[in-house]
Amino acid sequence: MAEPNDATPFLPERRSLSALRDAAAGCRGCHLWRGATQTVFGEGLKRARLMLVGEQPGDKEDLAGKPFVGPAGKELDRGLEAAGIARDEAYLTNVVKHFKFEERGRRRIHQTPKRFEVDACRPWLEEELKVVRPEALLLLGATAAKAVMGSSFRLTRHRGELLDCDLAPIVTATVHPSSILRQRDDESRRAEREAFAEDLRVVAEALG
Ligand code: SF4
Repeated sequence: MAEPNDATPFLPERRSLSALRDAAAGCRGCHLWRGATQTVFGEGLKRARLMLVGEQPGDKEDLAGKPFVGPAGKELDRGLEAAGIARDEAYLTNVVKHFKFEERGRRRIHQTPKRFEVDACRPWLEEELKVVRPEALLLLGATAAKAVMGSSFRLTRHRGELLDCDLAPIVTATVHPSSILRQRDDESRRAEREAFAEDLRVVAEALG
């Protein structure tokens, strides 16, 4: 039988964050649940003014069941702090809720989710957006940006700009914090860290 590719049948009747989180824990809307430890649903306040959307949970997030708790999460925390944004005042989530990886020996190496996997998981993000209704939406990385803005969106061209999108009054996109970790030396890491913090400051200022 063909593998399903849509989370919609798993959405609960009641659309509160806790009902959504509970239902997502049992989502079998695509094949990605098979290899992963658990669903990593979004985390944060229903009244959050800012929602941050990344690509997918990584190795540490998969084990902890929480978004942005691994090395990229630490980079995110650093950027948020530099921009004066309190992490616990924001809502953090990913476009794909299960960790996609390939095994190399004992290591699990991140794999970028494909378009059909992002499409399958999108109903969860749509419901999170409907419940939280953030004033500002910050898209972290090309996968999240394309998932929300469309496949023709070019992050390299529109990074840090205020985007025209009806999902929130303020919408902007920047790199995923994991890209800071991939810089080849300390100097480029420092520069990328500062550029990331600058993009976060744009959001902080727009929020006022
Ligand atoms: S990745 Fe998304 S659609 Fe696929 S099983 Fe997990 S929660 Fe469901």
